[in-house]
Amino acid sequence: MAKNGVSFNFKSKDFEKFLKKQTQSFIEEQSIEIACPNCDNKIAITSGKNPCPTCGQVIDFDTTLKF
Ligand SMILES: [Zn+2]
Repeated sequence: MAKNGVSFNFKSKDFEKFLKKQTQSFIEEQSIEIACPNCDNKIAITSGKNPCPTCGQVIDFDTTLKF
């Protein structure tokens, strides 16, 4: 068996925690383009409540991850 010299030395619990945090903040920083359910205009929304700039419809976008 040849050793490749790479060892994964993290604790799986810590890694899991790290991953969840990274994923959550990544999603919260993203703005996602969707079609407004009211006027069908393309709008960029982020996590939380997003009023449509065209028709004023508030789109409640919940990005909370449920693990
Ligand atoms: Zn709209």
